[in-house]
Amino acid sequence: MSYIRDIIEQVIERNPGEPEFHQAVTEVLESLQVVIDRHPEYMKAGILERLVEPERQIIFRVPWVDDQGRVRVNRGFRVQFSSAIGPYKGGIRFHPSVYLGIIKFLGFEQVFKNALTGLPIGGGKGGSDFDPKGKSDDEVMRFCQSFMTELYRHIGADIDVPAGDIGVGAREIGYMFGQYKRIRNSFESGVLTGKGLIYGGSLVRKEATGYGLVYITDQMIKAKGKSFDGARVAVSGSGNVAIYCAEKVIQLGGKVVAMSDSNGYVYDPDGIKLETIKQLKEVERKRIKEYKEIHPKAEYHESSFGIWEVSCDIAFPCATQNELDEKAAKTLVANGCYAVAEGANMPSTPEAIDVFLSNNVLFAPGKAANAGGVATSALEMIQNSMRYSWSFEEVDAKLKSIMINIYKNISTAAREYGHEDNLILGANVAGFVKVAEAMMAQGIV
Ligand code: NDP
Repeated sequence: MSYIRDIIEQVIERNPGEPEFHQAVTEVLESLQVVIDRHPEYMKAGILERLVEPERQIIFRVPWVDDQGRVRVNRGFRVQFSSAIGPYKGGIRFHPSVYLGIIKFLGFEQVFKNALTGLPIGGGKGGSDFDPKGKSDDEVMRFCQSFMTELYRHIGADIDVPAGDIGVGAREIGYMFGQYKRIRNSFESGVLTGKGLIYGGSLVRKEATGYGLVYITDQMIKAKGKSFDGARVAVSGSGNVAIYCAEKVIQLGGKVVAMSDSNGYVYDPDGIKLETIKQLKEVERKRIKEYKEIHPKAEYHESSFGIWEVSCDIAFPCATQNELDEKAAKTLVANGCYAVAEGANMPSTPEAIDVFLSNNVLFAPGKAANAGGVATSALEMIQNSMRYSWSFEEVDAKLKSIMINIYKNISTAAREYGHEDNLILGANVAGFVKVAEAMMAQGIV
């Protein structure tokens, strides 16, 4: 273990002040000792040392003018982590909490997640500390144009293909694509994914992360003889991942009893009316608090992460990193929750995960469970290069089979390398081995 411990210590020393990146690296590396024991050649080739260092990190100034005519300056990031198995691929996040450490943790996770999809995509991530909340459409457009005016020189369909993440949805992707096209004087649809349907987007991309999350969870609970039928479900967040996770849960007969945003959560004992959430969040861009005005029987609580106090059978953290801590995990267990699947990236703290594992709660880690989004982005790239579009049913069927395959691969790896119910181990090992083999084949680069 001292070889791996040394690498973790080096990462902490060389990347000061980036706790989320340290957390992500520690979580992955600690589970890889079994792999290194079986493959000493990985150690000789410095696979781990190279994997924890991004291939390229870009930081840039993003100046823009607000509606009052004032000049504002944000910071932009793109971390191109690994191109071992394909062009860098990963979303862009606009949120005031964004700094280099957040982008690096997300980029690192993305490398393994993308490998798990079985598609040829490397890992990267980008973003800015810009807060789209409360900004006018014009301000968001001017910001996106300025962001892309710098980013364009670093991306391309065979180089690096960004997509959406927190704060970046169809509107932002549209503005960024428009500016890229204008600068390049070329309609390169494969340069960004998550595009609108009429200019190269894929059906099901919007739904993909949430649907994929429920497809893989369905496999995980089925293996223990359970199903969504009649299950009480809590879904944190009310953004892209949360909404389509809730939609699929309801389609499979489950009842979503609680959802949240960054101000608080709503609890509706009769089941959340998803059409109201969609109207509030996707159309009106309002707060979730308004749900209670429309459905007075529901309760609203002014605590975002208080959602984990709601009694449920299955929990889907779909908001942000470290939203579910040890106390919340203990409360979920005490209330009878038997399965947790991560829609967000790293939403559970290490202590929360320990609580789940020691109480035999079925647990699907984000890098496997939320891989449906990037997998469908890769399907969007395939359609773009064919200049063709598949139907909703075709893409959905491909997404479902990708998620079923991910479940098979990670449970097989978990069985081979440790314990069959430890899907964290399975996901880390299965993703890592694929990237490591590609790196071995390509020499020291
Ligand atoms: P959205 O911006 O669409 O939604 C995010 C949701 O989480 C909103 O309800 C937001 O509330 C809430 N939220 C965000 N930050 C915080 C915070 N600090 N505290 C409390 N609540 C917060 O993002 P997505 O749904 O796209 O992403 C959610 C998670 O899923 C992220 O971790 C992302 O990395 C991950 N993910 C997303 C994929 C995708 O395809 N979109 C793919 C794979 C993973 P509010 O609106 O009030 O800010």
